[in-house]
Amino acid sequence: MASVREIKLDAPEESGAEYVIEVENLVKRFGSKYAVDDVSFKIKRGEVVGFLGPNGAGKSTTINVATGYISSTSGSVRICGHDVLDDPTEAKKLIGYLPEQPPLYVDMTVSEYLNFTYELKNCRLNRKKHLEEIYEITKTGDVRERLIKNLSKGYRQRVGIAQALVGNPQIIILDEPTVGLDPKQVIEVRSLIRALGENHTVFLSTHILSEVEVVCDRIIIINKGKIIADEKRDAISSIVSDNRAFIAKICGPSREVLSMLRSRAGIKKVERRPETDGDARAYLIESEQGIDIRKSLFYALAENNWPLVGLEPVGEDLENVFIRLVDRADSGKRRTTKRRRALIEEDAPAAEESTGEGATTGEGAATGESAPSESEEEK
Ligand code: ADP
Ligand code: MG
Repeated sequence: MASVREIKLDAPEESGAEYVIEVENLVKRFGSKYAVDDVSFKIKRGEVVGFLGPNGAGKSTTINVATGYISSTSGSVRICGHDVLDDPTEAKKLIGYLPEQPPLYVDMTVSEYLNFTYELKNCRLNRKKHLEEIYEITKTGDVRERLIKNLSKGYRQRVGIAQALVGNPQIIILDEPTVGLDPKQVIEVRSLIRALGENHTVFLSTHILSEVEVVCDRIIIINKGKIIADEKRDAISSIVSDNRAFIAKICGPSREVLSMLRSRAGIKKVERRPETDGDARAYLIESEQGIDIRKSLFYALAENNWPLVGLEPVGEDLENVFIRLVDRADSGKRRTTKRRRALIEEDAPAAEESTGEGATTGEGAATGESAPSESEEEK
């Protein structure tokens, strides 16, 4: 794929705006469900930003609103200063968009489809040269005369990216571009994204943390409709290295060893591991952020006469960080929900005393607010 780096679209014509995407207090509700719940972020020209979150987090909904494909319940999106609601034509012109389900006309050949897209977008670039470049970049040239319906998933996805590139828009938005691809195709698409990132602003969603690690310089993490982290990639990596986990191999009665470890300050989490080493058993020990527990662990085990025969750091990958960030956001929410419930209960006697209507409204409002997050937690 080295060739991708050499062949690339020219830098597109750009507006003067510093922020090319500005999402402000975006809310999208489907019935009573908040798919996107007060989301704000700004993306600078030239950034390659990963929008990360588990399935159902609200990525596609955010993107569909940002690209003007669906309306929002409230909040605003500006693309290079153009509001997507007030000025959808201008805003859309600046974006090349690959939706989760690429809008492919399966009865067309690739070439017919790209020509059709060229006309649809009212493209003014030299048609032959421009489309040839797109074939090159997306490696779709060899299937240009094939019907789209006969293409493999990998090729269809590349044709989807190709249609997004027609017109050479300065902002490329890709919704889960590597879903359903085989490992080789994933590598190809990622390197294509990196190449595009050299002279375009790229915003791509994914539920795979390693994906953003490879291609993005900034990561916005969304969960249950809310942004839970917005960091430079390096900052995310430093959260990783601050959190230390070890596999300790310890000889001793495992129940007692476990309870001793769990009661020690500085240790956040202990788990039995299936591995054994002679009569030693393995434990995964995670320390609190910024605390080195190795020495105190050694002394505590020595005191109990439980030999420590191995202590190995576990490299924590971004997947774990992601899970932890999601957990942290969730437990924060549970605490709030609990606190709210406690407040409601505290209020209850007073509510009973007061006459019907006022009390019902107050209580209803409070439970109404916490209800969606509770039902989601059950999922
Ligand atoms: P993601 O792309 O992160 O997987 P989505 O944005 O597709 O998540 O969905 C966010 C939430 O909104 C999900 O719970 C989903 O079921 C819900 N949702 C999305 N689109 C609709 C819709 N058209 N009608 C009702 N609920 C929807
Ligand atoms: Mg999605």
